Amino acid sequence: SIRVRYAPSPTGHLHIGNARTAIFNYLFARHNKGKFIIRIEDTDTKRNVADGESSQLNNLKWLGLDWDEGPDNPGDFGPYRQSERRAIYEPLIQQLLDEGKAYESYRTEEELAADREEQKARGVMPHYEYEFEGMTDEEISQAVADAKAKGLKPVIRFRVPKNHDYKWDDMVKGPLSFNSDSVGGDFVIAKRDGMPTYNFAVVVDDHLMEISHVFRGDDHVSNTPKQLMIYDAFGWDAPKFGHMSLITSADSGKKLSKRDESIIQFIEQYRDLGYLPDAMFNFITLLGWSPVGEDEIFSKQQFIKMYDYTRLSKSPAKFDNKKLEWINNQYVKSSDEDVVMDLALRQLIAKGNLPESPDAKTVEWARKLINVYKQQMSYMAQINEMADVFFHEPDQITGDALEEISNDTAPVVLKEFAKRAKELPIFDKVEILRTIKAVQKDTKIKGRKLWMPIRIAVTHEMSGPELPESIELIGREKALEHIDQTLK
Ligand code: GLU
Repeated sequence: SIRVRYAPSPTGHLHIGNARTAIFNYLFARHNKGKFIIRIEDTDTKRNVADGESSQLNNLKWLGLDWDEGPDNPGDFGPYRQSERRAIYEPLIQQLLDEGKAYESYRTEEELAADREEQKARGVMPHYEYEFEGMTDEEISQAVADAKAKGLKPVIRFRVPKNHDYKWDDMVKGPLSFNSDSVGGDFVIAKRDGMPTYNFAVVVDDHLMEISHVFRGDDHVSNTPKQLMIYDAFGWDAPKFGHMSLITSADSGKKLSKRDESIIQFIEQYRDLGYLPDAMFNFITLLGWSPVGEDEIFSKQQFIKMYDYTRLSKSPAKFDNKKLEWINNQYVKSSDEDVVMDLALRQLIAKGNLPESPDAKTVEWARKLINVYKQQMSYMAQINEMADVFFHEPDQITGDALEEISNDTAPVVLKEFAKRAKELPIFDKVEILRTIKAVQKDTKIKGRKLWMPIRIAVTHEMSGPELPESIELIGREKALEHIDQTLK
């Protein structure tokens, strides 16, 4: 049966690259009617952060993922946090020790660092050199006893078989092979405090949790031969592996680094800015995977239906901000009005453009405002910037805008419009449009010479939403005030 997992280390918040790994495993599971499991890989206790796990889970939920088993939803293969599985790992480590497939290593951190320096000086790749090389069993026992007497705590190292090729048919990259002599020597499977390392725990858990397929990032390729050795040592079958290409920045072409500020990298940040979760799911799924054909907008259900892992790309996935914005805009435009309203209102409030609990009249006004900008928005926080003119007194009219209204006809238009606007019984977009048309009829001024002066005088901008709507939203009082100032 098909069982896949997403196995985050709670060392930070949910990153766009992690989200992608989770989504590709999720789609594979759902497409194949298999199980999707979440396992928290928290054995590197020093690197864990307090809200790492909750950020991972909450943001995956926000993106629309659900899982069959996980720390918050245990199934038959728990516990689902590695830190709670020590009782499972310990006898297995002991088994490898008993079989001579692993051993206690007492070399201290200082000695290991000195070894690496010395190796670098010799011009060889730093690696672990077997500390008992050429010693008899008795000599080894003596060395171990001496170290114990000194109170040293050992790590447990896995005895890497010599000159053996480890091969697998990678589901993304095709056939791969690594020689065991190239993995850097006998590697650590348990730390001095007895906590297993990632490479050991991941094998035990994938085996015991009956994981059938593993899709993970390219950065794990060099771990896979080590993991295959451990599968062999226990006589277990390994799952199928697929290593996905990394994400690169479309601007720099470089691998996405967590410090790259040109790209927003954490799912939380997208959420805070008012991106829509379905749009993010859509965008992320197209990072390194493509459907047949040209279409790019799909729902989660559609992705599940058509997902085919053989279409995962071998080359790096370009993170393209323009595409991100485009996809999000598509979703904003087709979203339920209430969803957009709710999210955009929250942004206006968060920015202090609206009071904490706006009254009904303000909400009604804001709804109109949001509607005006809905077509243009990629994410809801943009409303604050786009609609700035409705919240703050605009800057002086300068430059092109000033030039545009420095003629004989502009004052004529503005005076005529102001006079009529003052008298309107209802000040809404319908009446305002009628008024502008009446001004045209009376003054015989039309087109740009008619519309631009009014737009510039009222909003101080040369472009924006439809003019009657803009004027309605600004309100009669302010609109007339701005026209007055312009005429002075
Ligand atoms: N905990 C590992 C990570 O976050 C998981 C790697 C794997 O999928 O085996 O990178």
